[in-house]
Amino acid sequence: MMALAARFPQTLALSRQGACAYLHALFAETTAAGIAVVLINLDNFKKINEALGYAAADQLLETLHKRVLSVADQGMSVHRLGGGEFLLAMPGVIEPRRIREVVELIEEMLRFPIDLEAGRRSLSGSLGISLFPDDGSNGAEILRNAEIAMYEAKDRGRNRHCFFRRTHYDIIQQRLSLEHDLVEALADDQLLLYYEPRVDLNTERFCGMEALVRWKHPQRGLVPPLEFIYLAEQTGLINRLGQIVFEKAVRQAARWREAGIPAVPISVNLSAFQLNDRDLLPFMQETLARYGVPVRMIDIELTESAAVSTDDSAAGTQLQQLRAMGFRLMIDDFGTGFSSLGQLQQLRPDILKVDKSFTATLDSSADGKVFVAAIISMAHALSMRVIAEGVETVEQVRHLRDLRCDEIQGYLLSRPMPSDAMTALQQQPAFPQIY
Ligand code: C2E
Ligand code: MG
Ligand code: MG
Repeated sequence: MMALAARFPQTLALSRQGACAYLHALFAETTAAGIAVVLINLDNFKKINEALGYAAADQLLETLHKRVLSVADQGMSVHRLGGGEFLLAMPGVIEPRRIREVVELIEEMLRFPIDLEAGRRSLSGSLGISLFPDDGSNGAEILRNAEIAMYEAKDRGRNRHCFFRRTHYDIIQQRLSLEHDLVEALADDQLLLYYEPRVDLNTERFCGMEALVRWKHPQRGLVPPLEFIYLAEQTGLINRLGQIVFEKAVRQAARWREAGIPAVPISVNLSAFQLNDRDLLPFMQETLARYGVPVRMIDIELTESAAVSTDDSAAGTQLQQLRAMGFRLMIDDFGTGFSSLGQLQQLRPDILKVDKSFTATLDSSADGKVFVAAIISMAHALSMRVIAEGVETVEQVRHLRDLRCDEIQGYLLSRPMPSDAMTALQQQPAFPQIY
């Protein structure tokens, strides 16, 4: 053990490779029945680093290192890793209750306020625990599994600890492989847009369409957005993905114009994360100009919860600028979030899209109809139009007409379709009367 301490002094930060080598040596030399390895990852470290600057952040890590060391008993070791991480090894400590005791002390140490030039701060960490030899036979495996447990702690909302679980390993593996594929999908142009038509209930005419992204995965076939948008948001790939979608929609609008097909606006879904992307607006402006498409041909859909969370933030400013550029704003999935009347009045969207779960209640419950009626009359009072999404039955259309809903979309009219099917539909003299 002495030799080990000399080779890996705790005052030096270890690289990942160094950490593997350290664990490797520790496992080889130990006489204990087992060793618990804890990976401690500070929450929001990137932000802290940016806010404090490198030198102050480094000092902060030094202080935390000392605090964690003060918790460590005889025989335990604590190493700093890069990026706001620490590695704690506890030879002979394998009983879950005892591990938890130590880990909870560390969590307390992290939360204890710390005085910085910028003021007093309280931190938190996400901790992952894996056990040698139960969870792996060498340093690299144990470290990776502690990392997987740490990611689970992050996924569950941070500021907590998790023990390594094999089932979570499988989930992470799947996600990693999908993430890897998604990076390729963006580079290899594997995304395509489907279009879902909308009809104006007053004129009964085709009046717009929604662009919905699909992923043509080389092995899995056509993957629906709900299976990868979330992942794109978590990994930051959403900004690039959103730009690709926007450009495809604009290019399609330009093609239809060139073909002399009567133009209706295309609405594009925007993720809340994209509002934090400073490149978004210049990209949109440049793309519209490049294809010669006027801004009124593209509408923006933002979910209710996304729109509400833009209150006085940088995202809110971007949203205002977006509207100043001339985009119409639709609030998507309306009724599922928690926007207040005040927020709606401030935001002043052009259009509310009633969520399909409410449309579905129209032919089953009287309450459902009352609710949709309330949304529509409120929207009209604030000069907004209303679109009902997810319309599946003729009965629903009848109710929506009674309630003076402006537009509808849904499987009754058509499922989302590829662009050439949409071209054919647009060339028909009138929209097929199916209701
Ligand atoms: P959304 O924007 O609310 O889109 C409507 C979803 O409901 C679409 O699913 C559509 O196919 C489906 N739908 C349409 N009519 C009916 C109906 O009559 N009955 C039922 N049960 N469903 C209907 P899809 O294409 O799987 O998209 C799911 C969600 O993924 C979208 O919900 C949207 O939030 C998101 N999404 C799609 N494309 C994009 C995109 O390009 N960017 C972003 N950020 N999100 C996207
Ligand atoms: Mg939508
Ligand atoms: Mg929706």
